[in-house]
Amino acid sequence: MTSTFRLPAKIEAVFFDMDGVLYDSMRNHATTWVQSFRQAGIEFPEYDAYLNEGRTGPSTIEVAFRKYGNRPATAEDIRFVYDTKTNLMLEAPEPPRMPNMQEVMQLTREAGKKIMIVTGSKQPSLLSRLKDDYQANYEQIISGFDVKNGKPDPEPYLRALEKTGTKPENALVIENAPLGIESAKAAGIITIAVNTGILEEEILHSAGADMVLPGTNQLFAIWPSILEGR
Ligand code: MG
Repeated sequence: MTSTFRLPAKIEAVFFDMDGVLYDSMRNHATTWVQSFRQAGIEFPEYDAYLNEGRTGPSTIEVAFRKYGNRPATAEDIRFVYDTKTNLMLEAPEPPRMPNMQEVMQLTREAGKKIMIVTGSKQPSLLSRLKDDYQANYEQIISGFDVKNGKPDPEPYLRALEKTGTKPENALVIENAPLGIESAKAAGIITIAVNTGILEEEILHSAGADMVLPGTNQLFAIWPSILEGR
């Protein structure tokens, strides 16, 4: 643990992001984004899919057209790329759980902490697995269906604080994406990043992460001491 990292004085709630934290699902998103943009004549690098994780589909398409298409996306572009991606995602392989995250969740539950899963996702296939895989009930999930402004806006994490009746200083967030980290930090919450994708660690630090770990195994290794506040 780095000497500068400060845990909440008292952790009452832990908020987990879903894609890239609970599931190794970012490969599917990255691959299908690259393929969908290619069909629209735009070379969108896989790296940018990770950089933009958490953005809504239409917003990602607007960013990509401006950056790599040198023109604004039309409504037709947005519809075409979004529909193409949605269809490709249906054919994508079922993503595995991230290693050791069931154990992390179990320890968190045993320690009596409140748990929320805070995701911008609207993927029914993954959201429906949360109950079996992570014993998360409906009230413990904030998804893309529940907020007006997605990450990097603080709304998703503010909703999690509100739903659990937790002050920001008593919560902890586990994120993997720059925009997710920005969202959590804007809500005033200490954030641990797990770098489970292909981004440089520095990008997660720059987004505001209080601590960056190389993956979920490393999170599990220190999780008991985190929960005990040391
Ligand atoms: Mg994520």
